Amino acid sequence: MKEKYVLEYSEDVVDEPIVYSLVKHFDVMVNILRAEISPGHEGSMLIEIESEPERLEQAEAFLRARDVRMIPIAQSLGFREAGCVDCGACTAVCFSGCLTIAAPDWKLHVDREQCTACGLCVPACPLGLFTLKFGN
Ligand code: SF4
Ligand code: SF4
Repeated sequence: MKEKYVLEYSEDVVDEPIVYSLVKHFDVMVNILRAEISPGHEGSMLIEIESEPERLEQAEAFLRARDVRMIPIAQSLGFREAGCVDCGACTAVCFSGCLTIAAPDWKLHVDREQCTACGLCVPACPLGLFTLKFGN
């Protein structure tokens, strides 16, 4: 199985070779899509992991023990739905199909499973309704 996650690092482990350890000890394939980590500060990383479910669980436990939060990408997108006026501006920049507006209701629909955490919707919404755990 192949899944995308946001890893949030605490300050205490930002210098540890976390990804190297995952590959070496759990035989998972890790693709780093984006990273914002600086020594001495909290950091975050967008990764794609390919592994057997059992190994993925072991890898998650390993990360938890090191105070690294592993957030499924579908949960990394914040959206204040109540403020939405269905203008459609965000759908123009969302190429994953996560954000769509269509007949018959012409309301914004959010399919979080499609989100790639690209971040383009964050500045695109004139009302500032989106947040991402990674990159903003
Ligand atoms: S972060 Fe990217 S993929 Fe996710 S909803 Fe926003 S524009 Fe779409
Ligand atoms: S840009 Fe903002 S207000 Fe417009 S449809 Fe998207 S979330 Fe709603």
